[in-house]
Formats: sequence, structure tokens, C-alpha cells
Amino acid sequence: MTQRIVLASSNRGKLAEFSNLLADSGLDVVAQGELGVEDIEETGLSFVENALLKARHAARVTGLPALADDSGLCVACLHGAPGLHSARYAGMHGDNPANNARLLRELHGVPAERRNAFFICVLVLLRHAGDPAPLIAEGRWHGHVLTAPRGAGGFGYDPLFLPDGHSLSAAELDPALKNRLSHRGQALAQLRTKLAAQAA
Ligand code: IMP
Repeated sequence: MTQRIVLASSNRGKLAEFSNLLADSGLDVVAQGELGVEDIEETGLSFVENALLKARHAARVTGLPALADDSGLCVACLHGAPGLHSARYAGMHGDNPANNARLLRELHGVPAERRNAFFICVLVLLRHAGDPAPLIAEGRWHGHVLTAPRGAGGFGYDPLFLPDGHSLSAAELDPALKNRLSHRGQALAQLRTKLAAQAA
């Protein structure tokens, strides 16, 4: 039997990505917007707290199991910034060129060996709003922040991110390869493993 679950995100790209990934898991993923759920304020102090807040809200409003994600870029020498503020680092939500420009300004003069950073993605699956034992998966993608943008693919900070072990920026990598290596790919793979272990 197929189980409907609500995706606590208004991002269409994510709906497609998660639907594909969970296609053979018996889960039918519905975007929260289709069920009349509005975005809530992300007041948590960490990625996992924000993912939990979003999933709990969607589960509470719909009565369905809920999946939420939260992600961003953490730069070590900036004490984890842009971190939770990755999408609006320069002020306006989703202004990628301005966010990248601010990141370059903050790192001006910082030598290559101190420009290490990682992308993080946390996924939370709640079976119901009061679920005391949510499934939580996390992926981290380590690398360095470049001194100038490279590549036209991807989104967000991809043109400034040089993944460890690669000579191409995340925006220059083949998209399928990026999806496999990335924080999101890692977290999704981990969630699938956890779901399969539960079903067994
Ligand atoms: P959200 O979790 O979709 O809100 O993503 C937060 C922000 O983190 C995005 O707006 C991007 O700025 C950044 N981000 C998250 N994942 C990636 C990625 O794979 N590449 C580049 N930027 C990312």
C-alpha cells in the first residue's frame, strides 16, 4: 500500500528530487503547498532543529507523516557562517550572486589552507506530529571556498565550492556526479537505508 507523506518545503525542485528518490519506497510525496500548509519561521539555532520544526508543523497541519530538510554552507574560519543564513547571507532570500559576493568579501585575504568549508544537509522524517523518535539523516560535503566563481551549473554557492578530491568546482561537476557526492545525496542515501532497515 502506498503511504502519502507531506514534504515540508515549497521548493519544486526538491519535490521532484525527493519523489524520485523515494519512488520505490512505497511513499507518495505531496508538497505541503498542495495541502494548504504555509512555510513557518525557521527559529531553530541549528539545521536539525529547523528541519524538525518544519516537519512537525507540516505533520500537525495535515495529519500525515512529514519529511523536511534543511541545508547550508559552513565555513570554519567564519565560525560556521553563512550557516543557517546561507539562503539570505547578503540580505535577500535566494540572491545567489549577492550571497557569493559577500562570502568572497568575508574571506578576502584568507589563504587557501584556511578556506575549508562543508555543505550540510539534514533530513527529518516524522511519522506523526508527536513522533518522539524521528528518523534523522545527515550528509556533509567537505571542500574549500575558491577565490573567484567557477562554472555555470548548480545553484547557490556551487561556483565557489571546490570539493575535496576534485579539481572542478561544484558548479563545473556533472550534475549527476554532484548529486551523488553532495551533502544532499549523502543524506538521502542514509535516509533510504534507515527506511529500508525499518521495513525489514
Ligand atoms: P535550503 O535548505 O534549500 O533553504 O538551502 C539553504 C541555502 O544553502 C541555499 O539557498 C544555498 O544558498 C545553500 N545551499 C544548500 N545546498 C546547496 C548546494 O548543493 N549548492 C550550493 N548551495 C547550497
